[in-house]
Amino acid sequence: MSPTLTESSFSGALALELQGLADADHLRRFKAGQVIFTAGEKGDGFYVVQEGSVEIFAHLGNDETRVLARIGAGDFFGEMAVLDEVPRSASARAELDTQAIYITREELLALLEDRPKLALTLVHEFSRRVRTLNHKYLDDILQAERLAVVGRFASTIVHDFKHPLAVIALAAELATRPISRETQLKAERAIARQVENMNSMLQELIEFARPSGHRVPLTAQSFSAFAVPLIEEMGSSTTLRGVSLQLATPPPDVVVKIDAKRVSRLLYNLVTNAVDAIGGTGQITVQFAVLDTFLRVSVADTGAGIPVEIVAHLFEPFTTYGKAHGTGLGLSICRRIVEDHGGKIWVESTPGTGATFLFTLPLEPVASP
Ligand code: ADP
Repeated sequence: MSPTLTESSFSGALALELQGLADADHLRRFKAGQVIFTAGEKGDGFYVVQEGSVEIFAHLGNDETRVLARIGAGDFFGEMAVLDEVPRSASARAELDTQAIYITREELLALLEDRPKLALTLVHEFSRRVRTLNHKYLDDILQAERLAVVGRFASTIVHDFKHPLAVIALAAELATRPISRETQLKAERAIARQVENMNSMLQELIEFARPSGHRVPLTAQSFSAFAVPLIEEMGSSTTLRGVSLQLATPPPDVVVKIDAKRVSRLLYNLVTNAVDAIGGTGQITVQFAVLDTFLRVSVADTGAGIPVEIVAHLFEPFTTYGKAHGTGLGLSICRRIVEDHGGKIWVESTPGTGATFLFTLPLEPVASP
């Protein structure tokens, strides 16, 4: 199919000018797969494709190539080296059997001198190509960034799954021995809890990767019914690491609209971080305050406090400090969970005397009788 040539495009305008040049001296034919020129060569002329298709490609090393552009009938290529007299920046090869008109530098310069309109359309065409290249470059950068984030996620999963997998392996091993019914039940519960943990970590990561993904609906429920068993369970695991988890006030019996799994994750992240910060024996104190329209929860620890180096970026993803396998996702996930519930999260910390993380959850208004 022959292309539509208009005077407004450079190729179109050029093709009209070139009608007289489509003679044997200017015609070039290339078989499919034939290399037309190679990067680094001197470029004395450029080509306007009449039929077929040409690939412009770059060598990436290790015999790998990347196609930068495809030039079809009516379009031109090889013009850069002609205009700036610098060697070819990329290579060209016929993708299909191709016929093109070859124009030398002298011929082009003479044409441009005679036809200022042609020079102008060439400038337009250049700016269009640069824009296209910019878009492609931006797309490539975005894709590379996404892949880098995916890579970091993969390492997060590997790291965060180590602990639950170790607990599961231990409990499974225990279950194969002759043990009491009670120990067996404990092992089963430990396995179920850790599987649940891993599942919720995956959910958080999936959500983190897709910011505009779908949200789980919030359910109105009693905060104390939700928090009492959770804190008891977390207390048993912090005790194993030498840290006592204390309640300064009992969880209040107020109604909050929450996604229970995500708020569990939030508390779990804060408590795990506190245990890490204590790094030995110490204490975590959880406190609740019912204020006007919201519930405030604080988690205070006797650790070393937030390192000054990261205070400004604490809740941003990938901020991690002083941990061998920290991924820096924990607090950014906490912030997202709190904000998705319509609350706020912040920290109060004095280096050397521990840190207190505080967050709020809006209270469900009590229905008037
Ligand atoms: P990660 O735990 O994977 O590093 P987080 O986002 O959960 O990621 O935490 C970021 C950093 O904040 C931690 O690496 C740690 O240096 C600091 N941090 C978090 N919680 C506390 C705390 N309770 N006390 C002191 N530092 C903390």
